[in-house]
Amino acid sequence: MPDKKQRKYDIAYLKMAKEWGKLSYCKRKQVGAIIVKDRMIISDGYNGTPTGFENICEDENGDTKWYVLHAEANAILKVAASTQSCEGATLYITLSPCKECSKLVHQAGIKRIVYHKAYKDDSGLQFLAKAGVELEHIPELED
Ligand SMILES: [Zn+2]
Repeated sequence: MPDKKQRKYDIAYLKMAKEWGKLSYCKRKQVGAIIVKDRMIISDGYNGTPTGFENICEDENGDTKWYVLHAEANAILKVAASTQSCEGATLYITLSPCKECSKLVHQAGIKRIVYHKAYKDDSGLQFLAKAGVELEHIPELED
């Protein structure tokens, strides 16, 4: 259980992740992520199409295109393209990772996840718990 001070930071970063999610072009779901390491923000991301593709995330049926990258995947890939690493970092995310992203999160070396909403399929969370990643659910984000 994190101490009071840590809790304050957790809420502040999670709120930032929420703000970041608002930048997403996706209509169905907007997810934001912030990666923090040694008290520094080393990355951010929101769900969206890959570089070079039009920003629209949904097809003509309103379904999310398969190639849309999730917020945490975008944030992790941004770190991969930098000189930083996610080893020992904390991921702040507005929606708990899906099973596909949970593999990336663990393999990237992220040790802690603080999330706001729980994704309907909890396979990702179950996998992460098994992998030894610390999970923190903060359902209330007062303004
Ligand atoms: Zn995902």
